Amino acid sequence: MQNRLHAIQAALPPHSALLVESAANRFYLTGFRSSAGFILLSRDKAAFYVDFRYTEKAKHTIRHCPVYRSERPMQEIRTFLTEQGITTLFVETDSTSVARMRTLRDALDGVTVTDEDTFDRLIEQMRQVKAPAEIAAVRQAQRLTDDTFSYILDRIAAGRTEREIMLDMEYYIRRLGSDGVAFDFIVVSGKNSSVPHGTPTDKPLETGDFVTMDFGGAVDGYRADMTRTVAIGAVSEEQRRVYDTVLTAQKAALTAIRADLVCKDVDKIARDIINAAGYEGCFGHGLGHSVGIEIHETPSLSPRCDATLKPGVVMTVEPGIYLEGRFGVRIEDMVVITENGCENFTKSRKDLILL
Ligand code: ZN
Ligand code: ZN
Repeated sequence: MQNRLHAIQAALPPHSALLVESAANRFYLTGFRSSAGFILLSRDKAAFYVDFRYTEKAKHTIRHCPVYRSERPMQEIRTFLTEQGITTLFVETDSTSVARMRTLRDALDGVTVTDEDTFDRLIEQMRQVKAPAEIAAVRQAQRLTDDTFSYILDRIAAGRTEREIMLDMEYYIRRLGSDGVAFDFIVVSGKNSSVPHGTPTDKPLETGDFVTMDFGGAVDGYRADMTRTVAIGAVSEEQRRVYDTVLTAQKAALTAIRADLVCKDVDKIARDIINAAGYEGCFGHGLGHSVGIEIHETPSLSPRCDATLKPGVVMTVEPGIYLEGRFGVRIEDMVVITENGCENFTKSRKDLILL
């Protein structure tokens, strides 16, 4: 964590500083989770300021950066900048609101508060490649997620509602030790499954329904993300064809994915299979995204992403086919990229399960 601060400090031009206020980057740079606080970095000094609610715990947790009890944040920022001889202040342009920018500019006389995104991009690049401890947390989060899938398979039955299934899953994953949930779980069935990001309703599951569950746990601040589609009772030939096409597309992408591939080329592997099967236009989202402290991180496996995959990047691989007003299928695994391929964290079976 010390190295993360040093890497940023070394990139700061003379007489400049960086203000970090977003929760995700604060956690990435301190290892401490809080709903408030800010980090100030100059070439020579790093400091974390947080209010009374968190100072005791922060002082115990953070060893690589001094912690100060924050009472008047703007005054504290001003003092830091003056003491360090700062004339240019970088902020996180991705997350700083227009109103916050105006407040900072009004309050910090003699300092240029720049809207250059230099440090957004640097921290983004740093966060893309996960350290072994981060990979271990993601792996464990996915283990809880796989366990939750095994658990719920015995509890999915005609007559139970989407909302009941979602609540069972959430309760179980928290019981397993997940830090809350990685995101609001999606459980959609029948016609509702044609909406990739639908919300669970009181609709009961019925024979012939596909049930798509998109869910994940969290461990030590890192998230997991997985999707499985199962069926109630029996499926039509067309449903089976759609399921098999999605599975074939996913397996092809998982076999191909490795370091040095360009993201959009991996997306194309799965997309070509789906298009060739006659479902062009029915796979309306990217093949995957990076995951870590946040559920959607960069890069993404989308037709527009020119980024090159590096070892240590965690990606989801989640093709889907959605037939409007009828049904949908998505299958999602989470992997970490290696030199020669990937390690797939997701161990759950993915042949079509009829319940
Ligand atoms: Zn997902
Ligand atoms: Zn996902």
